[in-house]
Amino acid sequence: MATRVSDGGPAVVRQRQAQRALTRLVARDMRGLRRIIIPSRLGATVPDWIAAVRALVDQYGAASSALAADYYEAERIAARVTGRFTVPLAAPPPQERVESSLRWAAKDLWPRDPDDPATTPAQRQPMDVRLTQAEKKAEAVAQKLVADQGRDTVREAVRQDRQATAWARSAALGACSFCKMLAIRGAVFKQDTADFRAHDNCHCGVVPVFRGQRFELSDHAREWERLYREFAAPHSGDQLRRFRRALAEHGHLPAL
Ligand SMILES: [Zn+2]
Repeated sequence: MATRVSDGGPAVVRQRQAQRALTRLVARDMRGLRRIIIPSRLGATVPDWIAAVRALVDQYGAASSALAADYYEAERIAARVTGRFTVPLAAPPPQERVESSLRWAAKDLWPRDPDDPATTPAQRQPMDVRLTQAEKKAEAVAQKLVADQGRDTVREAVRQDRQATAWARSAALGACSFCKMLAIRGAVFKQDTADFRAHDNCHCGVVPVFRGQRFELSDHAREWERLYREFAAPHSGDQLRRFRRALAEHGHLPAL
């Protein structure tokens, strides 16, 4: 008997909550690292801070992968497919990528000549404001690096598992219009090479679909799809903007 799987199922929601809880822990631990940066000694202390954040990303990224693997295995059992499969855990992101992302997050900390027209308003702020901004950016960077490992684990498992046929994107009710637009596409078959496009602070998840299962959009995703078809699809080149407006007008975007 074909079972159904949806982007809004209880296991999907639980997995998102678990991954979000990790995000909160990453943010909490990162706030504790802020004092490593000493404004009078940026050259020596920013690299130390980057190394400390990198260690956190490694630690929480491994936890994100492990959570995703448990979720995948439970979903596989629930789908009652045959044969054994060991979920390969996604590798941590390359060290250079983590470092360059964090250097980007910290770039406005460095002293600039206030008279230089190239100096941006962000770079003219007092040090404590720039530190807070850098920390906020770094938290977002770390969130994505950590969450990507969980998402990559599920996508790679779908790719390798002969009993998996597709994956779907699950966007939270509070997700942005970009993520909702991708989520209404439903199941993406594993032979399609579609990439999972995530942004910083994106909490979208990957839902595996197994042989014999039918993927169905949740009620809320069906409503997003209806809005997309009615208000955005006919307007080539302007669809995301129109979709965002339709979502907002129908109460499907969080108030900012
Ligand atoms: Zn998202």
